[in-house]
Amino acid sequence: MNHVDAYWEYHKVVGDEVGDKLLTPQQYEEYKQKVVPERMKNRLYVSWRVEGGIDCELIGPESMCHCQHRYRQHHTDNPDKNTKCKHCRCKKFEYVPKMGSQPARCKCKHYSTDHDLKKTCTKCACTSMHITFTCPCGNAAYLHSTCLETKDERLAAGKPVGKDVPYAAMGGLTGFSSLAPGYMRFDPSGARGDTVDLEPHSVAQSSRQRF
Ligand SMILES: [Zn+2]
Ligand SMILES: [Zn+2]
Ligand SMILES: [Zn+2]
Ligand SMILES: [Zn+2]
Ligand SMILES: [Zn+2]
Repeated sequence: MNHVDAYWEYHKVVGDEVGDKLLTPQQYEEYKQKVVPERMKNRLYVSWRVEGGIDCELIGPESMCHCQHRYRQHHTDNPDKNTKCKHCRCKKFEYVPKMGSQPARCKCKHYSTDHDLKKTCTKCACTSMHITFTCPCGNAAYLHSTCLETKDERLAAGKPVGKDVPYAAMGGLTGFSSLAPGYMRFDPSGARGDTVDLEPHSVAQSSRQRF
């Protein structure tokens, strides 16, 4: 494994779990032995959709919450669907779509980012954030919500679950089979079938792709 691969794999596995300090090689080994098997069992699949509809967006590590922290900055490893933010008082991860590079606008004309954690606008009397743009699925954005599913629930609904991966905060991404040499190392039997060429740095964009 070269240095770049090792560094990249470390960050995918550990994510934001231990803050900024780097684990020692021994701590890292312990972390992998303790956390990774649980994570592979308890992964949450996260998507943004209208109840009962298709997954309009698949949430990935870099997807932005209403609290302005990314998915990876929330608790993501647990079967209880607790996605509390680790950096603020946000109680659950709630995806807010953007309009291109701009934050989306509420019906009050202010940006989604002008609304506080309780969805109250800080610039006017609006108390419920309604993002009005129409999603490609035909429904207004505000009718969508962030849905969390366990692997069993996904399977029962006939939805793809991808391969079990050791990485943190994978959310709804399931097309990782060819992503990393790291993946192959974790699972030597790894399928090489449905290959999608992703560079490590494009993980964020991949949340917009459908697998
Ligand atoms: Zn949040
Ligand atoms: Zn937060
Ligand atoms: Zn508003
Ligand atoms: Zn407003
Ligand atoms: Zn939609």
